[in-house]
Amino acid sequence: MAKIKEVRCIRTRANGIWTIVKVTTDQPGLYGIGSVSDVNHTPTVIAAVEEVIGPGLAGREAGHIEDIWQYVYSSGYWRNSSILNTAMGGIDMALWDIKGKEAGMPLYELLGGPCRAAVPCYAHASGHDVDALTDDIQRYVDEGWPVIRCQIGGYGGGGFIDADKALRPQNAWSQSHAFDDEAYLDNIPKMFETLRKRLGFGPKLTHDVHEHLRPQNAVTLSKLLEPYRLFFLEDVLPPEQVQWFRLIREQCTTPQAMGELFVNPHEYVPLITERLIDYVRVRVSKGGGITPCRKIAALCEFFGVQTAWQEGGDNDPVNQAAAIHLDMASTSFGIQEENHFAPEELEIFPGHCVQEGGYMHASDKPGLGIDIDEERARELLNDDSIGIHRAAEDRRADGSLVRP
Ligand code: MG
Repeated sequence: MAKIKEVRCIRTRANGIWTIVKVTTDQPGLYGIGSVSDVNHTPTVIAAVEEVIGPGLAGREAGHIEDIWQYVYSSGYWRNSSILNTAMGGIDMALWDIKGKEAGMPLYELLGGPCRAAVPCYAHASGHDVDALTDDIQRYVDEGWPVIRCQIGGYGGGGFIDADKALRPQNAWSQSHAFDDEAYLDNIPKMFETLRKRLGFGPKLTHDVHEHLRPQNAVTLSKLLEPYRLFFLEDVLPPEQVQWFRLIREQCTTPQAMGELFVNPHEYVPLITERLIDYVRVRVSKGGGITPCRKIAALCEFFGVQTAWQEGGDNDPVNQAAAIHLDMASTSFGIQEENHFAPEELEIFPGHCVQEGGYMHASDKPGLGIDIDEERARELLNDDSIGIHRAAEDRRADGSLVRP
């Protein structure tokens, strides 16, 4: 059995937002990697991994994954923080990677074996208006994507009014545009009406509200979108207001997806067991790694809820690999969010997952099947980059913040 020797972080991507944790063992050449990327808190997570959690793991059996997860989970007494989950989530991925290498099996085999030939994904279509959006959706349809997310511009798009046209106070703060719930409620149903007229009901479509609406308007939007039969409506509520899903359920059948901000079981367990959402969207690293996420998937199976692990945006190819292995082995899998990486980024990660049309394929090498070329990872990193980014700052006409 291998014992943990060292836990350290490797930063990469030109803008410095990716952090990969490497867990080495006392067995020559045996190590595992995981994702501890956090676009908003890179230095904090690195300190948690290397200065707080890592030193407490040296000398432990690398194969005691469940025990290590439970130990780290409660080792700081307070639990379920985003930083702690990310740190232990990446270490957990690395330990499963080691376990797979020891077993000589890809992770999806260790998790029970494949339930599907490949992993269907949803694409991100967008356009500055509905004509451009239609063209983008059609491109993805032609490429073979089974599900497509539809946005007018960025998050909240369709709900923004130019600042000079919005009813703003005389002492208004500086802002170029204002978010308006009623504009959003007007424009997004119209967008789907046009899309269905042009594309029919063949393409499976989703939409991400990114928590921009007031809770009552989240109920209204869900009801207004019912005729267009979305695959799901995403993040129609912020995490603080999930009790409103009960009202949505009473009003309409629009399928609901939620969870990319969840870090605490108290956030997602009631939504699953009361069947208040249809898709749970926890990010594998933010949920605390493969160990808790496979339990979420098992819980979903009993309650008819499906998984749609969060990807896209700032995620790295290692977190993606962890999600794809879970998808391959889980019967409660629903759909996987896509991600796009530049060729020079993928070159750093031999054994990365491979996309064909709208499907992803996991590597069948042992463990996660993905490795990191540390030298090239260092070369790609721009030395000036500190790897910290801020969430969007959208505001209403009076200047008050909209949830990102
Ligand atoms: Mg989202």
